[in-house]
Amino acid sequence: EICACLVGSEMCIRDRVRKNREHVSRFLHKCVQKFQPPGGTFGSLGHIRTLFGMSPRLKACFQSKSRFKLTLLIQMEELDMEKKEQLYEGKAKKVFATDDANLVIVDYKDDATAFNGEKKGTITGKGVINNVMSNHMFQLLEQQGVPTHFVEQLSERETLVKKVSIVPLEVIIRNISAGSFAKRFGVEEGIVFDEPTIEFSYKNDELGDPLMNAYHAIALKAATREEIETIKAMAFKVNEVMKQYFDTLNVILVDFKLEFGKTADGKIVLADEISPDTCRLWDKTTKEKLDKDRFRRDMGGVEEAYQEIMKRVMGK
Ligand code: ADP
Ligand code: UDP
Repeated sequence: EICACLVGSEMCIRDRVRKNREHVSRFLHKCVQKFQPPGGTFGSLGHIRTLFGMSPRLKACFQSKSRFKLTLLIQMEELDMEKKEQLYEGKAKKVFATDDANLVIVDYKDDATAFNGEKKGTITGKGVINNVMSNHMFQLLEQQGVPTHFVEQLSERETLVKKVSIVPLEVIIRNISAGSFAKRFGVEEGIVFDEPTIEFSYKNDELGDPLMNAYHAIALKAATREEIETIKAMAFKVNEVMKQYFDTLNVILVDFKLEFGKTADGKIVLADEISPDTCRLWDKTTKEKLDKDRFRRDMGGVEEAYQEIMKRVMGK
C-alpha cells in the first residue's frame, strides 16, 4: 500500500526514496512490524498517531484524515533524520544531536592527533575510511552477538548511532607486544602472547589517560564491578571475532582500544570506533604497519596504509 503511494507521489519524493532505498525499506519493515497489520498493510490513523506523536506537520495532516498524505509525511520526516546542534567536537569526530533524544550522529574528520594531542596533522580520506570500516566491524560484531551503538550509516562520513553515556575507560586488548606495553616493560615489539592481555586507562585528556585497574575504576565510580565484568567479557569476545576476521585478510591484529557506553535503558554496548586509528594492524606476510603508527612515527605512506586496510576490509 505504502509503496503504491510512493510511486504515485511527486517527483522529488520519488528521487529521495530512490537515493535512500535501504533506509526506506528498513523504515517500512519497522512500520509493518510495529503495526502488525494483517497482510502487511497499515493500521489505522490512530495507530500512526500513537506511534509517531503529533508534530505540528503531522497534526495538520492527521486532521485532513488523509492516510496517503500522512504516510508520505512520515516517510519524509524519517528520511530527513535531522542533524541538529553539535554536542561535542573531539580530536577525530564531531557528535550531533538529532530529533530523537536517544540517537546521535557521529561525523568523522580527517584530523589526526597522537601523544595526547601534542602531534597534530591530517590524514586525507581518513574520516571516510574510519566511518565505513567501523560500521563494517560493528555489523560483523552484532552478527556475532556483541551489542553495539551502530544504527545506520547516513553518508560517507556520518553515522547514526545510539546515544550512550560513555564509560570513561579506554579498554585496551593486546595480542602482541607493541607501543606503550613494549616501552613500559622494556621489551621489543612483536612478542606473541600466549593469552591476550587487557588493561584500562582513565579517559581523561587533561591527565593524559592514566593507566588504571578495576579497583581504581570502581573507587572513582567510572564503572561498577558488574559493568567491568561485562566489559571485560565483551572486549575478549571482540578480540576473538576481530582476530579471526583480520586473519582472513592476511592482517595480524596486534592490539586495539575499545570504548563502551550505557544506553538510556542501562545496557552496556560497544561504542566509539574500530579503525586504523584505534587498532595496530600488521601485514601478516611482510609485518608492514597498516595503522596510525605510520603517522605517530613519521614513517610515511600513512594514507596508503589506511587505503590498503580499507581495500582489504571492503574489497575496494
Ligand atoms: P576524543 O573525545 O577522544 O577526542 P573523538 O574525536 O573520537 O574522541 O570524539 C568522539 C567522542 O564521542 C568521544 O569522546 C567518544 O567517547 C564519544 N562517543 C562515541 N560513541 C558515542 C555514542 N554512541 N554516544 C555518545 N558519545 C559517543
Ligand atoms: N589507542 C587508542 N587511543 C588512545 C590510546 C591507544 O586508540 O588514546 C590504541 C592504539 O592505537 C593501539 C592500542 O590502543 O592500537 C594500544 O596503544 P598503546 O597503549 O600501545 O599506546 P600508544 O603506543 O598508542 O601510545
